[in-house]
Amino acid sequence: MLFKTQLAMFVRGLKGIPLPQRCAVCGRRCEGFKIICSDCEQKLNSLRFVKHYMIDKKSRKRIFVLGKYADTMKSAVAALKYKNQPELALALGHELGEAFEASPIYKQNLTLVPIPMNREKELKRGYNQAELITRGIHDICGGFRGTRLESHALVRVKATQPLYQFGAADREKEIAGCMKIGKFSHHSTAGVVLVDDVFTTGATVREAIRVFESAGIPVYGVLAVATTNKAFKVKDK
Ligand SMILES: [Zn+2]
Repeated sequence: MLFKTQLAMFVRGLKGIPLPQRCAVCGRRCEGFKIICSDCEQKLNSLRFVKHYMIDKKSRKRIFVLGKYADTMKSAVAALKYKNQPELALALGHELGEAFEASPIYKQNLTLVPIPMNREKELKRGYNQAELITRGIHDICGGFRGTRLESHALVRVKATQPLYQFGAADREKEIAGCMKIGKFSHHSTAGVVLVDDVFTTGATVREAIRVFESAGIPVYGVLAVATTNKAFKVKDK
């Protein structure tokens, strides 16, 4: 696990906030200031892509993803969504931020914007995992490196049904008009980078791109923790 995540957990210990005693992904006991056990960490590493980015054919934008949405990565995403594990979202954001910063498509002065959730869902969950992942990325690429964080630049104005139940055309229809520009204090000329937990068909991010671009705000690309897209490859074992 990244040093930054361990440091955050150490500070949390100093502040007297109880440390998680169990792995955020598998629930087994884990030692020290770690939130992911060595076993899960190793499995997550084996799902990391060799090359993290590609160009989405439909939007023509750079899509940058940490790893394959399968096995332990699936459990990790499920844990941060449904098992109240916000620290895990931050830790995955740190990993994603570090990989992005080390990649050839990294650029300074970008503006990070999380994909917003349905409001009711967010209120129920207590957090938007995409926003926490974005904060993790910002921990790595922000500050003097110039990447900005605009957590509420995009807001939901219409609740949508879960997209997996729709075919491609109906997905686009369901998602159309569900977001608008929210509180946006400043955007750089380098452009916006949208952040989501999982990149599937890209219907949601394409709608977000449309919203920004129709407001004259350039979109540089998309960052996600995991994807089901088969164009990305993990290392051969
Ligand atoms: Zn584990």
